[in-house]
Amino acid sequence: MKVGIMGGTFDPIHIGHMIAAQCAYEQAGLSEVWFMPTNVPPHKQQATMASSGQRWEMVCRAVEGQPHFRPFDFELKKGGISYTFDTISLLLKEYPGIHFYYIIGADMVQFLPKWYKIGELAKLISFIGLQRPGYTPGMEQLPESLRDAVELATMPLIELSSTSIRQRKSEGRTIRHLVPDRVHEYIEESGCYGP
Ligand code: ATP
Repeated sequence: MKVGIMGGTFDPIHIGHMIAAQCAYEQAGLSEVWFMPTNVPPHKQQATMASSGQRWEMVCRAVEGQPHFRPFDFELKKGGISYTFDTISLLLKEYPGIHFYYIIGADMVQFLPKWYKIGELAKLISFIGLQRPGYTPGMEQLPESLRDAVELATMPLIELSSTSIRQRKSEGRTIRHLVPDRVHEYIEESGCYGP
């Protein structure tokens, strides 16, 4: 079984994440994609604006009613800094029959050589890299040792980040349609990014 992991801070989850996951699912022939919010990502140690509980709620709402997508609270439950190598080592013990594909945007593809224990991690899983405006996910940027572990997939370019959504909200601008509808409802009701 081939399972994609869409990991992210998801502060908040937005349509760029959803489209990336859908394109990876289709192009790599995955059985499912699990959306896994990080607890504390190693590369962003400042606090998230929404709480872990709120980020989880938004992820659950985003994937609701889509059987090929599933919310996965593994790193939130584990707590601490979310190093992908540690997470994957545990996951492989728990799900021995699964081959995991970690889905990443082009910004993360560039950053991959710096990931904690990347050499060992690349022997355990595959990566699917997607385009993102401003970044080129080219194999030539990767050291040879990583190239076999990464496959590239295409998606319509979505010029959107969680940071830009928080920024728009703080300016009182609408974020409707930039996040899934049920996530939009939650952000409005909870006020988690301000009024
Ligand atoms: P922030 O603005 O808070 O840094 P972000 O929008 O980059 O957040 P993350 O939750 O950090 O979102 O991203 C999770 C994953 O989704 C990363 O691999 C990232 O590259 C990818 N991703 C996020 N936005 C896009 C997008 N618009 N297009 C393609 N990939 C994306």
